[in-house]
Amino acid sequence: MYTKLVSSVLFPLHEQLKRHSSVALRRELESSQWFNTDKLAAIQLHKLNQFMLNIAQHVPYYRGLFADLGLTPGQFQSVSEIAQLPLLDKATIRNAGQLLRADNAGPLSLFNTGGSSGQPLQFMVGKQRKSHDIAAKWRATRWWDVDIGDKELVVWGSPIELKTQDRLKQLRDTLFRSQLLPAFAMSEQHLKGYIEDIRRFAPTMLFGYPSSLSLIARYAKLHNITMSDLGIKVAFVTSERLFENQKALISEVFNCPVANGYGGRDAGFIAHQCPQGGMHISAEDIIVEIIDKLGNPLPAGEVGEVVVTHLATAEFPFVRYRTGDLACLGTDLCPCGRHLPLLESIEGRTTDFIIAADGTTMHALSLIYVLRELSNVAEFKIIQESQFHTRLLLVMQSDVDNASIDFIRRNFHQRLGDIQLDIEFVTQIPREKSGKFKYVESKVGVTWDYA
Ligand SMILES: [Zn+2]
Repeated sequence: MYTKLVSSVLFPLHEQLKRHSSVALRRELESSQWFNTDKLAAIQLHKLNQFMLNIAQHVPYYRGLFADLGLTPGQFQSVSEIAQLPLLDKATIRNAGQLLRADNAGPLSLFNTGGSSGQPLQFMVGKQRKSHDIAAKWRATRWWDVDIGDKELVVWGSPIELKTQDRLKQLRDTLFRSQLLPAFAMSEQHLKGYIEDIRRFAPTMLFGYPSSLSLIARYAKLHNITMSDLGIKVAFVTSERLFENQKALISEVFNCPVANGYGGRDAGFIAHQCPQGGMHISAEDIIVEIIDKLGNPLPAGEVGEVVVTHLATAEFPFVRYRTGDLACLGTDLCPCGRHLPLLESIEGRTTDFIIAADGTTMHALSLIYVLRELSNVAEFKIIQESQFHTRLLLVMQSDVDNASIDFIRRNFHQRLGDIQLDIEFVTQIPREKSGKFKYVESKVGVTWDYA
């Protein structure tokens, strides 16, 4: 009853007051998700051409770029022609600064990515982009039978969100029944409080980082606290790679399916998982390209860097923005019947690389998999201090046994070569300022070198 009141009356009113159009957008998205591939492509092309006309006229950076390239905006015959424009990386955004802001932009909010992997990025987000993000998330939660107004428990750490925890926000959260627990405060004592909060709040949906939700789940399991009777319909996780054991643990403890989401503050909410397992791209608003090391677009099925163009960002455009993540486009359609294209094999950030003693660059997953083999390792962090010195922080679930340590040493040396490996046992591993968990930190400065 309350959910219905919120989703049909209060939330639309709130959105109207904030001049967001997410209610109408969500209705549109719920219709277009069933369109066939050709029709979706036609919508994308139309929106892309409109977007290009708009930014070529109003955004100084793109006005200059179109002139330099001798390109007439709005003339693309297919979405793939977007490759005529250059890739956009963080350094370019930083250098362009205010030139990326449209001269007809409405009020913009300043955002800052945490900068846990490299320099932080500042960018602006307009109301149009926010509305589209809200609508895309709302559509995805409804795939799981969760509506706006259903109680949502958010375990999140973005300092921006926490700063705006003022009274107005608190009122809004009470009204829309969203409760926030800070993800960077994850000590034993906090966890106990969080569990009590969750039990008292009895949310319909959980939303957070996989590392945070699985940490709460592990605490509950360890202390035999029942969380399976709260009626949670789904746990949405995002912003980090979701590991199978985390998924299993969250699902078991909270007695609900786990839905993965891929995207971020900068690039937008790119893809959401449906109950049949497909990671559906929000293709009505976001064009995803996969590129190889030289920057050339790759066909579906081939893994490369994810590059996105967000069509609702005319006020501060993200055009062919390099996310630094690796993934591939799906070659098939999802059995759920939605023709929104699929994103697969999301491998996490290209910055998650480490370097072996002999200079070989490898994805940190090769070390992570070793630790995932051991069921008594509760948490870990790999810190590569130098090419020849790596520290491994371990939180153990039970007493340390020599066999596990031998296993780790043998496998790490096999991959890293002749290095100094310090294994340190700790009771907890601190989160980043953002609340995110960083499994790997390399101080060697490995870069995935795209041309
Ligand atoms: Zn699906």
